[in-house]
Amino acid sequence: MRNVLPAPTTPLPFVDVAAGNREVEDELRRAWDRVVSSGRCIGGPDVEQFEERWAARCGRGHAVGVANGTDALELVLTALGIGWGHEVVLPTNTFVATAEAVVRVGATPRFADVDPDTLLLTPATVEAVMSHRTSALIAVDLFGALPDMSALAALADRAGIVLLEDAAQAHGARLRGRPAGSFGLASCFSFYPGKNLGALGDAGAVVTDDTALAERVRCLADHGRSARDAQEHLAAGVNSRLDAVQAAVLLAKEARLDAWNERRAVLAARYSAGLADTDLLPVETPPDVSSAHHLYVVRTPDRDAVQSRMTAHGVTTGIHYRVPCHRTPAFSRFAVETLPVAEAAALVIVSLPMYPHLRDSDVDYVCGVARGAVTAVAS
Ligand SMILES: *Cc1c(COP(=O)(O)O)cnc(C)c1O
Repeated sequence: MRNVLPAPTTPLPFVDVAAGNREVEDELRRAWDRVVSSGRCIGGPDVEQFEERWAARCGRGHAVGVANGTDALELVLTALGIGWGHEVVLPTNTFVATAEAVVRVGATPRFADVDPDTLLLTPATVEAVMSHRTSALIAVDLFGALPDMSALAALADRAGIVLLEDAAQAHGARLRGRPAGSFGLASCFSFYPGKNLGALGDAGAVVTDDTALAERVRCLADHGRSARDAQEHLAAGVNSRLDAVQAAVLLAKEARLDAWNERRAVLAARYSAGLADTDLLPVETPPDVSSAHHLYVVRTPDRDAVQSRMTAHGVTTGIHYRVPCHRTPAFSRFAVETLPVAEAAALVIVSLPMYPHLRDSDVDYVCGVARGAVTAVAS
């Protein structure tokens, strides 16, 4: 084997949540103490403060903290009355949660293909699967980058359907200066620990400018309670509230989000330069998008062999996602047609380590290992 680099003594992780926690350790301890001594464990001042800050970041009138990102999507669909008999269009190359939410409300997911360079939805790929039964489109900000939301919004308007944004991978990203979370009728976030902004457990949020929609989501997420009277149950809701301790953690980390995203951008540029003359081709970011660089994804024809060689040299990688939703046992019954771009991409994509605490030398090491792996596999 050529280009053999010494393996690091411990494998380089794919993400390092602990490193982010360490950076805000003092704030986390203060947050914990505040919640412990207040005794207010669900809702309360930390939740309200975080909701205000998150709504402001997204340029929205309202944010409703919920238990996780999947619930955020499901609650919005339920609040909009989307269910049996409705079709919802979404990209097939997303985390299964987007599709789960659609199926759980009783609606039918219509999986769409994506652009071959960016792996994002386009108006053409959406239109190809729309029907007269389509009620909503969920556009996903994949890997940290937004699809052309203006074009998708124009399409949704023309068709008279609702546009929703799944922004779970794009905290802090921008499209022509406008923040992720500001597009469509409502946007949904996950604060799963590995996201760009992560809690110390599960958490999520819905943001919207629609006051009635925000109220409905809040009501449904809290056992259908009315805002005026906790004993008055207006709907058969669920329990999907944001814990005070998670809101306190999110407040502490949100203050670092922009700096962390800037660091991700530096690392992404370093990867791109380090891999420029190889046949590891990065998934492209649209030129008008300032990505949150949630994941750094490259394509290589012999992906499985390249990935195992990287593992052997102590580099942990991921695949997002190995099987497009419409090909999984969970959702294949909703597959209407083949979606050639997403299906082909799933075979060649590999995600390299990406997190703000990655060192420049780590990126150089990964590039060296990746280069060696591609050369070895090709020969
Ligand atoms: C993480 C993620 C979700 C789900 O969020 P959870 O908080 O894990 O429920 C939804 N959509 C996308 C695109 C995601 O990446």
